[in-house]
Amino acid sequence: MKLERVLQYAQTLLKASIQEGDIAVDATAGNGHDTLFLANLVGDSGYVYAFDVQKQAVDATLNRLLDNALEHRALVLKDGHENVAKYVTKPVGAAIFNLGYLPGSDHSVITKPNTTTQAIESLLTLLKIGGMIILVIYHGHEGGKEERDEVIQFVSNLPQKYIHVLRYEFLNQKNDPPFIIALEKVKELPVSE
Ligand code: SAH
Repeated sequence: MKLERVLQYAQTLLKASIQEGDIAVDATAGNGHDTLFLANLVGDSGYVYAFDVQKQAVDATLNRLLDNALEHRALVLKDGHENVAKYVTKPVGAAIFNLGYLPGSDHSVITKPNTTTQAIESLLTLLKIGGMIILVIYHGHEGGKEERDEVIQFVSNLPQKYIHVLRYEFLNQKNDPPFIIALEKVKELPVSE
């Protein structure tokens, strides 16, 4: 057998956690590849919410959906993923994050530890049982290591009774390759006061 590459494995996890009719979230739309992938998985009875703070990413994502005639299955929002709960109110089947900067764009616009963990927290509440949050952690860029460490710290402290936390990583690759953190919700979280 072959071990799945990181990006391939992220898609395998999305496929396994999303059923037709589900709500899915692309927390970092970027060039729109994952938004399109999710739009295919949710079917006509499902829906995708895609977030990005850059106009270039929102436009690229909308165009990709239009090219594939799937624009009716997604809402592309020019807003931060930390505001996910303003838009998404129904249970979510899966969410994906690709951290870091958009290749080919302004390298100073990057995802940030505070807003990333805020978004994860909101999505954990929105997630249905059996739902999954997948984080592709890029950490080679300036600011990447700080974000990586804060995200790891945050997810390592999630209570195991409610959330299963997986790390999938090739340990002998050079140049800070991305790795995956996957969060599976196994039980409804206690309501915080
Ligand atoms: N590093 C990945 C791509 C990451 S793209 C790769 O190499 O393939 C990350 C996207 O997140 C960028 O398009 C950026 O604009 C977006 N982003 C940054 N902060 C955000 C936020 N708070 N909410 C939503 N998207 C954000």
